[in-house]
Amino acid sequence: MTEMRTLKVALLGCGNVGAQVARILLEDADALAARAGARLQLSGIAVRNVNSKRDVELPQELFTTDAETLVKDADLVIELMGGIEPARTLILTALRNGACVVTGNKALLAQDGPTLYEAADKAGVQLSYEAAVAGAIPILRPIRDSLSGDRITRVLGIVNGTTNFILDQMDSTGAQFADALAEAQRLGYAEADPTADVEGYDAAAKAAILASLSFHTRFALENVHCEGISAVTASDIAAAKDAGFVIKLLAIAEKLTGSHGKEGVSVRVHPTLLPREHPLAAVRGAFNAVFIEAENAGELMFYGQGAGGTPTASAVMGDLVSAARRLVLGGPQRTETTTGHVPALPIEAATTSYYIGLDVADQPGVLARIAQLFAEHGVSIEIMRQTIHRDAESNVESAELRIVTHRASEAALAATVEAVKGLDVINSVTSVLRVEGV
Ligand code: NAP
Repeated sequence: MTEMRTLKVALLGCGNVGAQVARILLEDADALAARAGARLQLSGIAVRNVNSKRDVELPQELFTTDAETLVKDADLVIELMGGIEPARTLILTALRNGACVVTGNKALLAQDGPTLYEAADKAGVQLSYEAAVAGAIPILRPIRDSLSGDRITRVLGIVNGTTNFILDQMDSTGAQFADALAEAQRLGYAEADPTADVEGYDAAAKAAILASLSFHTRFALENVHCEGISAVTASDIAAAKDAGFVIKLLAIAEKLTGSHGKEGVSVRVHPTLLPREHPLAAVRGAFNAVFIEAENAGELMFYGQGAGGTPTASAVMGDLVSAARRLVLGGPQRTETTTGHVPALPIEAATTSYYIGLDVADQPGVLARIAQLFAEHGVSIEIMRQTIHRDAESNVESAELRIVTHRASEAALAATVEAVKGLDVINSVTSVLRVEGV
């Protein structure tokens, strides 16, 4: 019987995720060897401070601050330091030395992914990053491998647990955004500086990755239209609820025919109304889910924990075993297929349904005037609901109008809203939100 090969694994970072990866590598060594076809030997762990207290008890002799030397002697490198540098340089060094790299660093991939993918292709080694999108959920490999014989038409993802937690809190308790954010921070779901999450930047980085793999074309962060949730109010949520919707921050990548009849991909992140019966509406708390529509497979949904040390370590280990198997089998490794060249469409080309809230004067003929104005702009109305309010002090009545449109282009909608604002019977446009799944 031939002796099993040993592959040296360098781990960069031993924080929330890295410590769990180290634990699994040491605890499950035999099972991992059986699955990978090679023993995965943890050769060292690079950190900033070798004496820091860790979540997991690990042999002290594994720790080093010399990440560069560790990387140069490894067959497989796991980067879980986060940030841009030195992670970027260390990954490039590893790839150029012929090591396969596994990372969860979505910030780095969003900023400089193409440089890393090209370095991996050039060296003929694997660069895997399942943990970078939706934590534990196996989503990138299903898109890249399982669906490689199909055509994906649309991806809708709840890929940021912090914002899903905040919106879920607002929906279930009626809280304002600031109070729901404070609760998320108290429970450890949101960071002290929550900007990357609440402004949608983290979701945008993931949207670019999902779009690139789904449409075999490299999309960068600047191709993603991004709106966060900080402007979503308790009254938006209440009105949406009343009309049978829930508001979610969605990362969307979909194939569309833009103006001039040219096909392209719209990649965007924004708060979105979903009918309460849509499968993504049931994703509560800090959970993540990705909903895929493909020509032949139809609708698919992947659901699970989008963050956390142990769940994310599961995705890292899947990539590691897969890369090790490929090293054992030999032959060229492939990072991604960028065979397509579908252009990214600007947000103006996106078509969705819209929810529009209007505060209007309670006068005869108002509804007809508004409906006519929508028709003139080519935006057709699916639902129009009116609620009458009486101001207790002035005794003046006003009406709250809630409109859901059929699919229309952003450009047509923007022109309609501008025209509506100009009507003398409109007190204010209280909200304009996009709707999916109707
Ligand atoms: P973390 O807890 O902050 O841990 C970072 C680790 O990297 C620490 O052990 C730190 O060393 C080490 N490190 C940082 N800078 C270093 C440097 N310049 N040189 C050497 N070591 C350095 O991070 P994490 O939460 O585990 O996240 C790791 C990566 O996974 C990030 O890219 C993150 O975006 C991604 N990710 C995380 C999650 C999650 O749930 N946490 C989910 C998906 C993806 P010291 O311990 O000595 O300070």
